[in-house]
Amino acid sequence: MTGALLLILQAVIYFVTMAAVFRARHQFGIGIFVCVLGVMHFLETYLAAVFFVQLPFGLISPGSTVMFSGKLMMFLLLYIKEDAETVRQPIYGLLVGNCLMVVLALILRLYGGVAELPGYRPDLTFLDDMGILMIWGTALLFLDSIALILIYEKLGQRIANTLFRRIFLSAAIVLTIDQLMFFIGLHLVSGVPVSALYGGWIAKMAVAALYSALLVGYLRYIETKPTLAGPEPLLQVFDRLTFRHRYEDLLQKTGKDMLTGTSDRGQFEALAQSLIDRALAEGKPVSLLMIDIDHFKNINDQHGHVTGDNVLKDVARSLGGSLRSGDRLFRYGGEEFVAICHDLDRADAATLAERLRANVEATTFVEAGVRATVSIGVTTADGGPVSTERMIRDADARLYSAKRQGRNRVESAPAG
Ligand code: GH3
Ligand code: MG
Ligand code: MG
Repeated sequence: MTGALLLILQAVIYFVTMAAVFRARHQFGIGIFVCVLGVMHFLETYLAAVFFVQLPFGLISPGSTVMFSGKLMMFLLLYIKEDAETVRQPIYGLLVGNCLMVVLALILRLYGGVAELPGYRPDLTFLDDMGILMIWGTALLFLDSIALILIYEKLGQRIANTLFRRIFLSAAIVLTIDQLMFFIGLHLVSGVPVSALYGGWIAKMAVAALYSALLVGYLRYIETKPTLAGPEPLLQVFDRLTFRHRYEDLLQKTGKDMLTGTSDRGQFEALAQSLIDRALAEGKPVSLLMIDIDHFKNINDQHGHVTGDNVLKDVARSLGGSLRSGDRLFRYGGEEFVAICHDLDRADAATLAERLRANVEATTFVEAGVRATVSIGVTTADGGPVSTERMIRDADARLYSAKRQGRNRVESAPAG
């Protein structure tokens, strides 16, 4: 009875400490959590192999029951709250660290002249046994963690009924197989009796239930922010995809203006010249439209910046909707947009600009009483090479001329 209570005490201390360190990752980083897992791993595996206590239901090992199972649950927690990419790091790290340790320890025996220290006898048999068990235990941990996450995902897809059942079942299946496999290793290396197999299994099931309950409690009450949305496609769980997805997502966002979703100034700088060059090289005209919202400051001043932002979004949407499909729209500055239009001559550019102006005037109002209009300066190149800067200067000059003439109008190059 005391034995069981001590196990529960250890499991609770283990979980509470690890969960607290995990929770603190937002302040201190995930490295601390991973480091704690790593530091505990060696002695944990040693204890799992050599320290057994007799309980009514069999011979059990606290190292294996509390710590090894706990570590698996921590990997699951790491996966649930972070992702496969993060959980891979400690799993691979432990495997590599263990192999390195064993290789270095094996080399120890090649040294001559080992110093005799009073009271200490370096036990090389211990190193041999531990070396095998460490590799075996860590290899199992490696497979267990992967299996645990895959089963957790699989259960989520099939019988996503309750979180407790999903976590407990995943842990129970993995720990059952693990118990069998680790026992075989133990039995061969250190002759541990068969009663440790059953006892250990019962204890692991009990601790799996306890950890699952604690984990659900943690996820429900301590860290409630939503995590991984929905089940992951099974084959992608241990693929590089989570990382790649994030990268692609980032790539997709870069170059986009956050507010309006149009291409941003950086994109303009990167692309404008080549868009112009390409058209001219093909012998086609290219037009550049500089579009500026009229009296936008007044909109901000009278209705607030939130409304101002909404007007900006509406204007961008209207402009985007009025352009031809091959045209490129950029947010050039605060409330200034630039459109670069391939194969558009002077006359057509003036017509297109007029359509943009009219559409904004007709459709852009987010709230009653807020109207927006734009003024547009247009320039067209249809001969030899011309610089973006030159076209911007031209369009800008016409834009200001349009402003001076009363706004809500288009000023384009004289036909010629
Ligand atoms: P004009 O007709 O001469 O163009 O008048 P204007 O008020 O539009 O001219 P100005 O360029 O001086 O003002 C632009 C204003 O746009 C100033 C700035 O506070 C505002 N602005 C720039 N970027 C944003 C933004 O992202 N959101 C909001 N709400 N306002 C912005
Ligand atoms: Mg303006
Ligand atoms: Mg402006």
